[in-house]
Amino acid sequence: MDNRHIIDKHMQSRKKSQELFSTARHFMPGGVNSPVRACKSVGLDPVLIQKGNGSKLYDLDGNEYIDYVCSWGPLILGHAHPEVVAALCQAARQGTSFGATCEREIELARLICEAIPSIEKVRMVSSGTEATMSAVRLARAYTGRDRIVKFEGCYHGHGDTFLIKAGSGLLTTGVPTSPGVPPATAGQTLIAHYNNLDSVTELFNQFGAEIAAVIVEPVAGNMGLVLPHKGFLEGLRRITQSHGCLLIFDEVITGFRLTYGAYQNIVGVEPDLTTLGKVIGGGMPVGAYGGRQEIMENVSPEGDVYQAGTLSGNPLAMAAGVTTLTLLQHEGCYEQLDKRGALLTNEIKEAFHRKGVSYCLNRIGSMFALFFTEQDVVDYKAVMTCNTALFAKFYTELLCRGVWFPPSQYETCFLSCAHTDSDIEKTINAVDKALDGLK
Ligand SMILES: *Cc1c(COP(=O)(O)O)cnc(C)c1O
Repeated sequence: MDNRHIIDKHMQSRKKSQELFSTARHFMPGGVNSPVRACKSVGLDPVLIQKGNGSKLYDLDGNEYIDYVCSWGPLILGHAHPEVVAALCQAARQGTSFGATCEREIELARLICEAIPSIEKVRMVSSGTEATMSAVRLARAYTGRDRIVKFEGCYHGHGDTFLIKAGSGLLTTGVPTSPGVPPATAGQTLIAHYNNLDSVTELFNQFGAEIAAVIVEPVAGNMGLVLPHKGFLEGLRRITQSHGCLLIFDEVITGFRLTYGAYQNIVGVEPDLTTLGKVIGGGMPVGAYGGRQEIMENVSPEGDVYQAGTLSGNPLAMAAGVTTLTLLQHEGCYEQLDKRGALLTNEIKEAFHRKGVSYCLNRIGSMFALFFTEQDVVDYKAVMTCNTALFAKFYTELLCRGVWFPPSQYETCFLSCAHTDSDIEKTINAVDKALDGLK
């Protein structure tokens, strides 16, 4: 079938999205509440969503999509899982917020501490951004130092400390990636290269005594997907320990995504602090940070590192989180996700081979990223070699065939427990035809 024809037909069947998006633009910056949703990097106007169910999304015009975004990671059980919805309804009938401690908060905290041994105590917040900001404040207070090391291409939410790129020259401090971040703040953040311990050692040679913490995504999921080299995380543990600074694993994506627990359970490296979000909220706004008692006891009111939240530990969010984690304890959950992930990506690879299109596919469990490049993608520099124009075309071809990928080359795809073999078969079919459309 003619590709152009499919795309034209799809564009025509998106009238309601187009209309409502122009209203959205009127009242919201860029028509969205989070920038990537505007689909700018694939050069399209966004499709607006009416509802989700299981592995599917439905747009305002009633078109159906197999969803590989899963709300950017949280929806490991798929959309509107009946038990999560039931827990939410039951909780809502008892009141949506108390401003006082309720049982569900303690239950979610207990589940997290039991699943992740490095976390003895945990504080709930309302987003991943809040979790990383608070963890860094705690690390600074605990060590009495100000500088932070982060890695190029890792994302830790939109806190000022993290919106930083490397300055010019090898051993300079960071500069803001966004207007509004004071240069003085940016100067406290040092930038290292992912999977490159030498770059970390160099920073410690110069600034070792001033560094409060190294923060890292143990599996990098915000520059597409980049896996840690063997020894990389172990090396970070060694270096931070020998300089008396803290190691923070930002497991906002990887927490309960790859195993019941965090990636640290898999790799066997214990950070001092861990940040969580996404899956632990079961699709509700939740973040958390935690670690050893000796560090967490500094958080107010036990200690004097201030951090608070009107809706922290919100009963609805806790209900969704507790239900989600409880369902994830079911035998074989993660094995099944891994199996489907392998099946889908092996078939995608075959399709790319068949059509002679260069690619690199990185996967771990139910997370994967498909890069339009000939290089092995092991760090940010390699990610930057991708052909984003080709990705944009591929994205459009898939969208028009009912497959919902993240609208950027620099994002990760997620599978949920709701994805079926039939979804995967349909996806492969769409990929096959999309590749023809690239010619
Ligand atoms: C999504 C994400 C965040 C930010 O979480 P929000 O809930 O969007 O504020 C932080 N760190 C990582 C690794 C993330 O993927």
